[in-house]
Parts: sequence; structure tokens; C-alpha cells
Amino acid sequence: MTRQRRLVYDVLLRDLDHPTASEVFLRAKDQLAGISLATVYNCLETLTDAGLVKQVNLDREPSRYCPNLHEHAHFFCMSCGAVQDVAPASNDGGLCGWRIPEGNRVEKMEVAMRGLCRRCAAVEESDSEETGDVSASRAARAAN
Ligand SMILES: [Zn+2]
Ligand SMILES: [Zn+2]
Repeated sequence: MTRQRRLVYDVLLRDLDHPTASEVFLRAKDQLAGISLATVYNCLETLTDAGLVKQVNLDREPSRYCPNLHEHAHFFCMSCGAVQDVAPASNDGGLCGWRIPEGNRVEKMEVAMRGLCRRCAAVEESDSEETGDVSASRAARAAN
């Protein structure tokens, strides 16, 4: 592993918050002033190809990167954009919850969950306690 690749990998391992390439770049730059965004992209691609890092995509948002190689799903917070790992409750890769058509063989499974993270859910809760109306506070937030 080159020094830059090692650095990019370390950045991903330090905070498991699924950063985008630009976020990885900003963090890597703090430690290696000369590193460029193009280099970070290259390193991420190499790490992904080597199977050390997984690329996480949701809709048309920029790809995020995850060094957790255990089978897991991703939880996307619709309010703050946080992405968390969700481990399967069983050790069959989470397949037992689905009726896979007979004869089909699942090679890869990507599950995306959307909702509110604990922090955002707590904020929403306290908002609705104040106003007594969740939809009003939601509308107010959307208008801001
Ligand atoms: Zn992940
Ligand atoms: Zn959140």
C-alpha cells in the first residue's frame, strides 16, 4: 500500500460515518497537505477494487465509502444525512426475512433504510411536544 492509500484507508477507518470522496479528501488533506482530490479518488477506487472498502450509493447522491466488510444494511437519515451501519439480526446475511423466488440465488444484497437517526428523532419528538403537532413542525422546518 502506498502512503496515500494507507492514509485514505485510515481516514475511512477512523470515523465510520460513510464520507463522500470530497469529505475523505478534506480529512486526508489535514494530514498530508499535498494530496489532491484526484489522488483520493484513485485511492478509493483501488481500495474498492481490492475489496477493502465498499462503495455505498443512494439515489443520485455522491458515492460514500464504507470499510465495514461484514454483511450489513445502511440506514440513511432523511433529516441530517447521517449514514449508519445496520447489522443483520441473523447470520444468514439477512436473507431469512425475504421470500426469494424459488431457484434464485442471491449473490449480493443491498438494503437501504430511510428514516430519522436517534438524534433527529429526538429533536422531532421534542418539537412535537412543544407544538403538539408533528406535521406543523415539519412544515415549519421545510419552510426555513
Ligand atoms: Zn456501511
Ligand atoms: Zn439525523
